Order: sequence, then C-alpha cells, then structure tokens
Amino acid sequence: MGQEITASGESSAADTTFEPGCIFCSILRGTIPATVVRETEHTLAFRDIAPQAPTHVLVIPRTHAYPNAAELAAGDPALTAELLRAGAAVAAADGLAEDGYRMVFNTGDYAGQTVYHVHLHVLGGDALGRFGTP
Ligand code: 5GP
Ligand code: ZN
Repeated sequence: MGQEITASGESSAADTTFEPGCIFCSILRGTIPATVVRETEHTLAFRDIAPQAPTHVLVIPRTHAYPNAAELAAGDPALTAELLRAGAAVAAADGLAEDGYRMVFNTGDYAGQTVYHVHLHVLGGDALGRFGTP
C-alpha cells in the first residue's frame, strides 16, 4: 500500500465537521494527498509524512470536533473505540502484532502536539526507544 492516493472525497456522515486550515481535514477532503492504508466509516488511517519508526501511521476521525484524546473519549466513546480498533488493524496489516507496537496520543504543547484534530500514532516495525523527557 505504498501508492500515493487521496482519501475518497467527502464523507456523508452527518457529524462530520471541517476546519479550514486543518491539515488533517484537508487530507480527509482529498485536497492534500496522503498514503491511505485503511478507511472505516468514521476513521481514516494514513502514513505519517515524517515517520519516526519503520511503520508510522496516523489514525484520525472524520470529524474535526475533538482536539485531543481526552475530549474524544468524553464526547464519543464509540468513536474512541473505533479509532483504537482501526489502529490495531493497521498494526496487524503491517505485521506488527507479534513483535509489538506503540499507540500514542500526544496532548498539548509539552507532548509536542502540532495538529489539534485528534490523531492516534501507530508506531512499530523495530524495537522502539523509551519515551518521556529526553
Ligand atoms: P502531533 O505532533 O500533533 O502528535 O502529530 C502530528 C503528525 O502529523 C506529525 O507526526 C507530523 O509528521 C504529521 N504530519 C504533519 N503534516 C502532515 C501531512 O501533511 N501529511 C502527513 N501524512 N502527515 C503530516
Ligand atoms: Zn481537522
């Protein structure tokens, strides 16, 4: 699935919100290209443009409504679970399930969050370093 493709246009989901200027909303609309690896009704998974591991995939909801994992979990538990299931499916599809992988939600400035459209990082494909303060 290394081909450069774009997401399949507008979602018909009624709860979809779009934020002009949000990179991930533009990927959802197909106006910024991304290497999409998985789509579900309410989520999209695509490879990170600056991978930090052999596999580095971002999984996002199709709505801009939630800036971080805490707000997503509070506002839509079912969507939270769908996002995590999609992350696990991406890991399995990339052959990471046996050796292990990491799923991360950066939240806020100190965690280095740069895009305030909630996203799950799926990282693996090699032994990963510890994390925390450098
Ligand atoms: P954060 O630091 O907010 O947790 O993660 C944002 C991620 O989005 C970063 O890992 C960054 O490399 C990725 N990213 C930023 N712009 C783009 C883009 O245009 N395309 C893709 N595929 N990833 C992007
Ligand atoms: Zn967005």
